[in-house]
Amino acid sequence: MLDSRILRSPVLVLVAGLVAAIVAEMLAFSGMGTTPDELSRAAAVGFIASCGAAAMAALQRVAHHRTAESLSRARHDADHDALTGLVNRAELHRQLEQAMRQARIDDTVVGVLFLDLDRFKVVNDTLGHDAGDELLKAVAQRLRSSTRSTDVVARVGGDEFVVMCRGLLTEESVVAVARQILKRFTDPVPLGGRMQLASTSVGIAVATPGEGRTPEEIVRDADAAMYRAKRDRSGFAVFDEHERAILLNRLSIERDLSRALTDHQLEVHYQPVVEAPSGQVLGFEALVRWRHPDRGLLGPGTFLPVAQDAGLMAKIGELVLREACAQAADWNRRLPADRQIKIGVNVAEQQLVDSRLPAIVREVLAWSRLEPENLTLEITEDVMVEHLSGLDCLRELRAMGVQLAIDDFGTGQSSLSYIRQFDMVTHLKIDQSFVREMNSDTANRAIVEAIVTMARALDLQIVAEGVEQPDQAETLMALGVTLMQGYLFSPPVPVSELDEPADWSAVAAAKP
Ligand code: C2E
Ligand code: MG
Ligand code: MG
Repeated sequence: MLDSRILRSPVLVLVAGLVAAIVAEMLAFSGMGTTPDELSRAAAVGFIASCGAAAMAALQRVAHHRTAESLSRARHDADHDALTGLVNRAELHRQLEQAMRQARIDDTVVGVLFLDLDRFKVVNDTLGHDAGDELLKAVAQRLRSSTRSTDVVARVGGDEFVVMCRGLLTEESVVAVARQILKRFTDPVPLGGRMQLASTSVGIAVATPGEGRTPEEIVRDADAAMYRAKRDRSGFAVFDEHERAILLNRLSIERDLSRALTDHQLEVHYQPVVEAPSGQVLGFEALVRWRHPDRGLLGPGTFLPVAQDAGLMAKIGELVLREACAQAADWNRRLPADRQIKIGVNVAEQQLVDSRLPAIVREVLAWSRLEPENLTLEITEDVMVEHLSGLDCLRELRAMGVQLAIDDFGTGQSSLSYIRQFDMVTHLKIDQSFVREMNSDTANRAIVEAIVTMARALDLQIVAEGVEQPDQAETLMALGVTLMQGYLFSPPVPVSELDEPADWSAVAAAKP
């Protein structure tokens, strides 16, 4: 059968037309058939027609070539990341699936390495987005050059990369690849005119021939291991059974969490903030709890990270805000004007980046009739630094009269230069880890002193968290810190366990 490409070839069409014209001329000269005039005309028409056909075919070819080119470009664009030219997540999954099929035949393993750059946000924030892009491209180049041509390097998120290596025999070989990559990362990269270190954490998952995980699940497992590597600052970590158990637990929590919201299983507990040494209750912090039907009362550490990943944090946050404001307004109606309490409500990352936050807070305040100055929104230092773009939203809240606290201060990885940008903040909460070690470790005491001095200079109110022992309260008072929160006074409790507002000061004062 003739190939359609041959039929479309303009040269062939032209040659065929010319042959037809020559045959017609020859017939005319030999006097065969019709008159020579008619045959010459026929030859001319044949020649012109063949030229036209050749031109058409040429045009068709160009168009066909262009379409094929743009189709293959579109296919390439759909599979690749525009900035780095690496394959994207969808293409990685396809290639991983294919590699796992091959590994079953070869009896080899497939290694999946999940990389996340350390402190990439800081590069973006301090050196700008162009520098951030430059860094991503340099990392892509580095990964390509430190892997084999049969390995796949993908960019699967902002600063997240995956390397897939096939044809390896053991888990140790995969670990060796991770070590090799980490070694390459000890060389600084040129960035914004100077050399900069770009460190990374690597999570490893190994797909073995007999196993039943999907490509998505293997990448997810490598991602989970990466979190451990980052947390432990160990460079790399391999996904193991322990991690699998944690992951299954997370999945079951995620499954139950939406039910928790509809079935009103979440409740708010309140921990007093007292003034030392009088012990007077100045306010409370609202802390969410989950009364799980099978597992009992769960603390926020078990389910808030899952809620954050599942995109449920905004809903939970609003629920706590609403309940806490209503409760505080109710207490304040029962308290004299000079003893009105403040309520502290934690704001999660997902809430801070949501531009509707000021409107939601405004609506809840109006609905609950709580005075704005009696609401303190608490945002952790890490979240504030990660979302400097959310500061406008905080300014708007401050303009409404709401108080703002930096929570867990001292634990974040921020540099002190950020603090100057937080001019809308009114309170600073010293993290409990410093308070706990304050009297046994002189370095921690020095840190607390430094935080107190800085907070004073910036005109911020200081609250010490996690005060458990009388000697801690005494040291804090000696440093001039009088607002405290901790088990020494009371753990967080449900409303039903709290006394009537009129009796609060007496109870708290008796404790220290
Ligand atoms: P946080 O805002 O720093 O809250 C203080 C945490 O310290 C609470 O833990 C509290 O129970 C605990 N704590 C208080 N006094 C002491 C003490 O003397 N010793 C010790 N060891 N711990 C003490 P909890 O309730 O487990 O909450 C943990 C974190 O979860 C909170 O830290 C906050 O960041 C977050 N969280 C809790 N509720 C919410 C919420 O409704 N929304 C958001 N976004 N985050 C919440
Ligand atoms: Mg807090
Ligand atoms: Mg805190």
